Amino acid sequence: METIDWKNIGFGYIPTDHNVRCTFTNGAWGELRTHDDAYLNLHMAASCLHYAQEAFEGLKAFRGVDGKIRIFRMEENAKRLQDSCKGIMMPELPIDKFKEAILKVVKLNERFIPPYESGASLYIRPMIIGTTALVGVKPANEYEFIVFVTPVGPYFKGGFQATPFMLSRKYDRAAPLGTGMYKIGGNYASGMAAGVHAHEMGYSAIFYLDPKEKKYIDECGAANFFGIKGNTYLTPKSSSILPSITNRSLMTLAKDLGMTVEHRPIAVEELETLDEAGACGTAAVISPITKIDDIDYGHSYVFSHDGKPGPKCTELYNHLRGIQYGEKADKFGWITIVE
Ligand SMILES: *Cc1c(COP(=O)(O)O)cnc(C)c1O
Repeated sequence: METIDWKNIGFGYIPTDHNVRCTFTNGAWGELRTHDDAYLNLHMAASCLHYAQEAFEGLKAFRGVDGKIRIFRMEENAKRLQDSCKGIMMPELPIDKFKEAILKVVKLNERFIPPYESGASLYIRPMIIGTTALVGVKPANEYEFIVFVTPVGPYFKGGFQATPFMLSRKYDRAAPLGTGMYKIGGNYASGMAAGVHAHEMGYSAIFYLDPKEKKYIDECGAANFFGIKGNTYLTPKSSSILPSITNRSLMTLAKDLGMTVEHRPIAVEELETLDEAGACGTAAVISPITKIDDIDYGHSYVFSHDGKPGPKCTELYNHLRGIQYGEKADKFGWITIVE
């Protein structure tokens, strides 16, 4: 068995032993199957390849401080995948089948779950693709649900860190009444150019304004935005934001820590009044923001003068990570322990 240098794995794809699949055909989902092959035998006219009829999820399994394997809020991912399916005319996968597939793929690849000390985790990527050969634009009749796993390194190599983001009105990730609220591949294709531009300019990600009026805060790259103002946790509401499970968890934790939570449209000028800001999602939990440079108007919104994450971001981050690694009590029933 090859050995993996857990401390130095990044975010590429490390091959694992097995993946789990399930086919939808003749109007019904079949049984779960285990595959060893990482390749798909897919028709070149499959609807996912041309018209992006594809939805995905992202969640993680953690090796806890007690050696147990923990999966974070997988039922929420199952529900969100159903919402995405409805949004792009794909059949919904039953919640129980989703959970069964996740547990199966994690157990089958147990040896790839990084040790607790490494700060790394096992990334779980479920997806559904339309596989019917079509050239006309319409939903497929056949679909494949696939879940694979790959170990990923700690997001912050040198410890929890804050980075700058770039605001530009020249890009939209999604349309006002489009598909921004679904977790689908198509939204990622439309965000690539903005993301590369931000990276080339030395920023972590692009910070989007709402696609209709360009007045309100929308998403932060492929993550949700939140700000801290005094004792308040603020996060934008918009029809083009993907409902992040991390964000929802942070809202719950913030309330539990005695903070006020506001989930409402936030005008861009309000950035001026924030004490701290961050992007949140499964990959990093929280990616604190030092500043947002508005490159259209040459203005900077600064949240950290010493380049370090603020106290509330740090507290929320430690709390959520603590639950995921079994260091803190799972008060809200978010954890599934894999037996
Ligand atoms: C996945 C995703 C997020 C983060 O969601 P989590 O459930 O917290 O991982 C945020 N924005 C977009 C566009 C996403 O695709």
